[in-house]
Formats: sequence, structure tokens, C-alpha cells
Amino acid sequence: MKQFFLPDTYKGEEILLLQGKEYHYLINVRRLDPGSTFHGIDKNGEKYFFRIRTIQKGRAEAEKISSENEMQTDTELTLLQCLPKGKKFDLIVLQAVECGVSRIIPVIGDHSISRPDEKAKSGKNERWNKIAKEALQQSGASFVPKIEKITELALGVNSLKKPFLGLFFHEKPLAKKGLHQYLFESHKKIMLAIGPEGGFSKREVDFLIDQDFHPVYLGPRILRTETAAIFAAAAVQTILLEKDHWTTLLS
Ligand code: SAH
Repeated sequence: MKQFFLPDTYKGEEILLLQGKEYHYLINVRRLDPGSTFHGIDKNGEKYFFRIRTIQKGRAEAEKISSENEMQTDTELTLLQCLPKGKKFDLIVLQAVECGVSRIIPVIGDHSISRPDEKAKSGKNERWNKIAKEALQQSGASFVPKIEKITELALGVNSLKKPFLGLFFHEKPLAKKGLHQYLFESHKKIMLAIGPEGGFSKREVDFLIDQDFHPVYLGPRILRTETAAIFAAAAVQTILLEKDHWTTLLS
């Protein structure tokens, strides 16, 4: 589902006036005609559904058909990602947002090699939020993803209000249960934690377990951190998407 960012001035009115770059995008690029419908999202993440009424030169009017909340799965996915080397985080942001992750918390792990100073941190944060927004517009996800400031593990974990299901991904088979078992019960919020190239330290594993995080194993291959992040997000999303099917098979 494609959707686009509504102008900042839009506050839920019945008629949405499209001019300038919004007009260009919908009418010239997406080639919508009168009667065509489209999804839009405002800066607060509020979603709407519109139909084009009239198109004149450089100016179109769309009517609001509904405000929608129903398109999103109930679960909010947060990715807590230990900082990898170089620019790998850019790719993680792009792909995680496309996979439906709505919040990413970059963390300096005990084994993270990248340790940006304050100035570099804020530059990176700005760039990642921009990438996230682009990924959103591209994929038509129905929320505004947020990339938090770079932090440390304990602060990152505690920044999400409980209750939530915490899962940390580990290359050793520490896991006692499979993802399906953890996801059998419904959770409003899930946090996925992924280690850096050097993996999680023993201290971090102990901390995560102490915080009620469950270990998850993605098989005997050791994945690169950027692969593990996407594998984890995609696996969780697929299991949630198909939950009706597999729970019916089980019963
Ligand atoms: N340095 C470690 C590997 C770290 S891989 C080693 O050589 O043993 C980087 C991160 O990807 C890990 O911290 C973990 O979060 C995730 N990961 C990689 N392979 C995984 C697997 N098979 N199952 C679950 N998580 C994995």
C-alpha cells in the first residue's frame, strides 16, 4: 500500500487541498484521476483515506473517506540494535522500517567498535530519521518510524514502557523455546535486541535475561549483525501475519 505524507497544515478536514509538491506527486507522478483513492499519513502518524474529487491545473481537491486505524497489525515492533561498524546502520534502518519496525534504538554495546562522540551521534540520528522516512514513503507502511538517540543497553531497554515481550537474538542455542511459542500469546509491544559484530557480552546477556528477555536462535549459521536484524524482524512479522493460519492448524 503506497501512501504519502500529508501537508503539515492538514488537521483532518473533510477536504484536502493538493498543491505544489503534493499535487505533483499524486497527480503527475502517481497519475491519480478524479475518483481515485489514496492513503495519507500526517506528521503525528494519524492515517486517512481519501478520494480525488476535482483536478484543475496545479490544484486538486480530495475528500476524506475515513480515518483509518484498522490497517495496522496490533503489535508495535521496536528494534534495539547494537551499533555496527561503518555505514551498516543505514541499511538496517531502511530494511527494518520496510519490515514494519516502528522504532529503532541504536545502542553502543560492550563489543561495538563504533563509538561516536556527541556531535557524530546527533548527525547520525538526523540521517537515520531521514532514511526511515524515505523507507516509509517507499513501502507505504502505516506509521511514522522513529530512530531514537544512540544510548546504552540498560537505558534503551528501559525506554520502552512495560509490558512488552523482549526477545534477544543469540548465535548460540541458549533458547529454550521457539519464536512461535513466544508469539503464541498476543503482545501489544515487542522489542527485538540484536548484538554488534562482536556479539553480546556475557554481562549483556545476563542483564537481558534479568530484564525478562528471552533468547532466540536463528539456526546454526552465524549471521552478520545487519542480516540478523532483518532476519529477526521478518521472521517475527511473518509469524504474526500468519498467526490465524498456524494457530488453526495447531488446534
Ligand atoms: N561475534 C559473534 C557473532 C555475533 S553475530 C561470534 O563470532 O560468535 C552478531 C549478532 O547477530 C549477534 O549478537 C546476534 O544478535 C545476531 N545473530 C547472528 N547469528 C545469529 C543466530 N544464528 N541466531 C540468533 N542471532 C544471531
